[in-house]
Amino acid sequence: MAVIGIDIGGTKIACARVSEELEIIESTFLPTLASQGFDASLAQVFRAIDSCITADVEAIGICAPGPLNPKTGVILNPPNLPGWINIPLAAMIQAKYSVPCVVENDANAAGLAETLFGAARGCASVLYVTLSTGIGAGLIFNGKIYHGKNGFAGEGGHVSIDYRSAITCNCGTPGCIEALASGTALAVRGLNPAALNDNQLDEMATMLGAWLGSLVSLLDPDIIVVGGGMAQIGSPLIDKLRRIVPTRTINQFASEIPIVPAQLAANSGVLGAASVALGGRA
Ligand SMILES: [Zn+2]
Repeated sequence: MAVIGIDIGGTKIACARVSEELEIIESTFLPTLASQGFDASLAQVFRAIDSCITADVEAIGICAPGPLNPKTGVILNPPNLPGWINIPLAAMIQAKYSVPCVVENDANAAGLAETLFGAARGCASVLYVTLSTGIGAGLIFNGKIYHGKNGFAGEGGHVSIDYRSAITCNCGTPGCIEALASGTALAVRGLNPAALNDNQLDEMATMLGAWLGSLVSLLDPDIIVVGGGMAQIGSPLIDKLRRIVPTRTINQFASEIPIVPAQLAANSGVLGAASVALGGRA
């Protein structure tokens, strides 16, 4: 048996048929054709699935840009997919291919993939964070994604660390960690996340450490997994976080909570989507 994982991005669609062990058997990449509107890009999604699907596929998982509702499988109105407004994508795919389909946001899916197959394998409660152009999080409790009442839980990038900050996030809140420490936030200040000097790296780690410390106070996770492009900074950043986080939380066991880099960084979109399909099936 196998599943299909699809990562719908603003510019390209990645699709793969994936084994139960999360090995990619066959994959395809197509342009999203987002600027041509909903019908054109939905046709590309179908084309991508058609090129990978075989008779042994038992479920389809999709990662798509938010906002979306993973509980209902409805894509709400993502800014980089024009015309995709209140689209019941999971139901449409399910009707066309007659297999269960689940839709999930990127960070939740990547967090589940790390829990089932990656750096957090065997852990029950996982805090996955992605440090990239934006900052996101995925909360895994008892091996399942925590969605909250409306499907919008885990928006860790929009947890504020400074209510008096002069920097207001796109969401309207001052001091969201995404507005302060994401790749986009660094670029606004003229900094290159891949080439930070010691002081700049210290400042970034201090902000991220305060944020993660608060999340540890709240969640007391088994492990923290750090993914996303900026995680490529690697041990200079991770080592600082390991030092700072225990000083920014009441959790006296915080120093024992591993902070580790993600393992499935390459293909995290399709593998995350496939994990959601596998997790949803189990
Ligand atoms: Zn925000």
